[in-house]
Amino acid sequence: MVIREALEDHERQWLASYAMKSADSKGRVYLEKEHDFRTAFQRDRDRIIHSTAFRRLEYKTQVFVNHEGDHYRTRLTHTLEMNQIARTIGRALRLNEDLVEAIALAHDLGHGPFGHAGQEVLSKLMEGHGGFEHNRQCLRIVEQLEESYSAFPGLNLTFEVREGLRKHARKRLPSLEAEIVDLADSIAYNGHDLDDGLRAGLLEIKSLEKIKLWREAYRYISEKSLPGDETIKRKTAIRLIINRMANDLIYQTMKNIKKYRIQKPSDLVKPRMKIVGFSRDLEKKVDEIKDFLMRHLYLHHRVVRMTEKGKRFIHELFRLYVARPEQLPPHVRQRTKMDGLYRSVCDYIAGMTDRFALDEYNKLFSPFERV
Ligand code: MG
Repeated sequence: MVIREALEDHERQWLASYAMKSADSKGRVYLEKEHDFRTAFQRDRDRIIHSTAFRRLEYKTQVFVNHEGDHYRTRLTHTLEMNQIARTIGRALRLNEDLVEAIALAHDLGHGPFGHAGQEVLSKLMEGHGGFEHNRQCLRIVEQLEESYSAFPGLNLTFEVREGLRKHARKRLPSLEAEIVDLADSIAYNGHDLDDGLRAGLLEIKSLEKIKLWREAYRYISEKSLPGDETIKRKTAIRLIINRMANDLIYQTMKNIKKYRIQKPSDLVKPRMKIVGFSRDLEKKVDEIKDFLMRHLYLHHRVVRMTEKGKRFIHELFRLYVARPEQLPPHVRQRTKMDGLYRSVCDYIAGMTDRFALDEYNKLFSPFERV
C-alpha cells in the first residue's frame, strides 16, 4: 500500500463521520495522478504555500502599512496565526485538518495592497467592468492567474478547497472545515488588532475596559496574581481572550452538530443552518470587540489617513495604466488580449504588495525616479 492510501485509511478511522475525507474529494478540474505520499488536500496546501500570491502576503497590509514597523501583523503573519487557530479547532472537532489548513492559508490571497483601501477602490473602479471582490479574486488567482504548471492554468486545486474559498454565491454550506476558517479569521484579527492597536499607541489600555472580555481577562490575571509587567499582562489578556473565543466555538459547535444530527458532510444542506458558531453569550461579547475596534482603531484618524493615502495611489496607478496601456509590462499587456484592459489592470494592481505599489507610484510620478 502506498503511503497516501495509508493516510486516507487513517482519515477514515480517526476523523468524525461529518468530516471531509480526502479520498472522497470530487477531484480537480484537470485530471492528475494522485501523489504517493500526500493526500489530495495536503497537496493543495503545499501548492498554495509555494505560490507567488502566498509570498506576496508578507508585504501586504493587514491594518498597518508594512513600513510602519516590524512587529505589526502583515497579511502573512495574520494568515499564519489564523491558520493555527483554525487547525486547533478543526482537530478538536475531528475534522480534516489538512483541508482546514489549505483553505486558511489561501483565504486572503485575493486582497490588494493597503488593506481595505485596495478592496474599496478597486471595486469602485471596476464598476461596469465586472466588479472586484477579494474572495472572488482569490478564486481567480488559484484557478487562473498563478502560472506554474505546463498542463493547466492556476493551481488546479480540489473542488472542496475552491468551494471553501467561495464565500459568496454558495448555495449550501460547503463543509464544516470551511466554516471554521471563517470564524477563526475573526478570532485571529479581533485578538491581534487589539494587540497591534495598543502597540501603535492608537488604543489606550484604559479604554479597553469598556470591553467585557477584556475586563474578565484582567480580573482573572489579578485574581491569580500572575507576575509580570504591563506588557506581560497585556499579552496574557489577549491570549486569554483568543483562548476563550476558540474554546467556546469548539464546545458550541459540538452541541450544534448533535442538535442538528449532522452525521455526514452532505447533511449540511440548508444555507441558513448555523453549525459552526459561538454561544449566544460569547457572540455578544465578540461583537463588542468588533464594535470597539471599528470605532477606535479602523476609524482612528491615523488609520483612515493611511487608508485614504493607499486609495489615492491605487486610483492614480489604475487611471494611468488605462489611459496609456503601453506603460504596462509585457506580461500584463499580453493578458489584456484575453481578459480585456480593465480586468488585466485590476489583476495587476490587486497582485501588488504595498511596497511594489509605492515603488511603482514613485517611478511613474516622481520626476527624479528611474522608470
Ligand atoms: Mg483574514
